[in-house]
Amino acid sequence: MKKYYLAAPGPTPVPEMVLLEMAKPIIHHRTKTFEKVMAQAREGLKWIFQTKEEVLMLASAGSGAMEAALANTLSPGDTIVAIRSGKFGERWSEIAKGLGLRVIDFDVEWGKAVNPKDIRGLLERHPEVKAVLCQACETSTGVIHPVEELVKTTRASDVLMMVDAITALGIVDLPMDKWSIDVMVTGSQKAFMLPPGLSMIALSPKAWEANASAKCTRYYFDLKKELEAHKKNQTNFTPAISLIQGLNKSLEMMKEETLEGIFTRHARLAAATQAAVKAWGLELLAPEAPSNSLTAVRCPSGVDGEKLVQHMQDKYGVTIIGGQDKLKGKIFRLGHMGYCGDFDVITMLSATEMTLKDLDAKIELGRGVAAALQVLHQGGF
Ligand SMILES: *Cc1c(COP(=O)(O)O)cnc(C)c1O
Repeated sequence: MKKYYLAAPGPTPVPEMVLLEMAKPIIHHRTKTFEKVMAQAREGLKWIFQTKEEVLMLASAGSGAMEAALANTLSPGDTIVAIRSGKFGERWSEIAKGLGLRVIDFDVEWGKAVNPKDIRGLLERHPEVKAVLCQACETSTGVIHPVEELVKTTRASDVLMMVDAITALGIVDLPMDKWSIDVMVTGSQKAFMLPPGLSMIALSPKAWEANASAKCTRYYFDLKKELEAHKKNQTNFTPAISLIQGLNKSLEMMKEETLEGIFTRHARLAAATQAAVKAWGLELLAPEAPSNSLTAVRCPSGVDGEKLVQHMQDKYGVTIIGGQDKLKGKIFRLGHMGYCGDFDVITMLSATEMTLKDLDAKIELGRGVAAALQVLHQGGF
């Protein structure tokens, strides 16, 4: 037998309690029973989004909510700024172009965080800009962007600040109302400890105002209709019933841990992982702004990242992921978000060390794990 471990930055492992909840017989969604499930989910989502606004649940991958964000607040020909610091930044830009928006791509070197001052300058030069799009955490590079500062720079003008928080919400503090984020989207398969298939999106009052005159084509992702349905504890189409039931269970677990507890745990796991990388003598891809959700590591010379990932899966049963596009073969990415504890990180780091050793990297077995243990043992978090 080879035990299987999922240590990728999404999808992430699902707790047994959540799996059991989702294994229950399907209930019909046009019933009082389901309406109770919806009421509970709506309440829990407002808590984790830290908002008074309605958080809408869509049956889709995270990208569906990214498309919905644009289609429901903008009109073809509107100008937007897409901050592109990796694959997911590129994706949002592509979605915008597909909807007929005029996109100013603002490229940030992969592995670096955006400098909010640059965005302020850009907005001063382009008063026609209606929205700025950014990832909170760019999962392809493992960087965390300074969302709070970024929102502040956009407040001087009338633009909508849209945040893809798919690998940040439920990991780091992102108080939507307090920071005045206009649109925030997330998905089920990262920090929410659920299988893929459910996305979530919330709009500020300003974004709902924009919705009234937004002319982009939309049918399935009509957020105004979803809002009306959600207020009656319903959805516009057949919802992802089992996922919403599972969501209530995972929200229950998150509430028990508290927001503070969740943020502290992820900070601790990230610190332990980064300590291991340092002890191996390897480099982070994003040393200046590493995220608490995942750690992207530059491969040692002579080691191919694709081979590393494959070997680790084949020999040790541990799944991490490599780099995309220009980073293919050059990095590997270790996930530590969602249903992840101290010993999951130790398992992942152990398998990484053994794999590096197998591939003839200059690694002394146990070095990284020992460094991680020091961090976890000291606590201090
Ligand atoms: C995972 C992820 C997405 C969404 O991916 P889907 O495959 O559409 O669920 C979007 N943005 C970021 C930053 C992500 O990590």
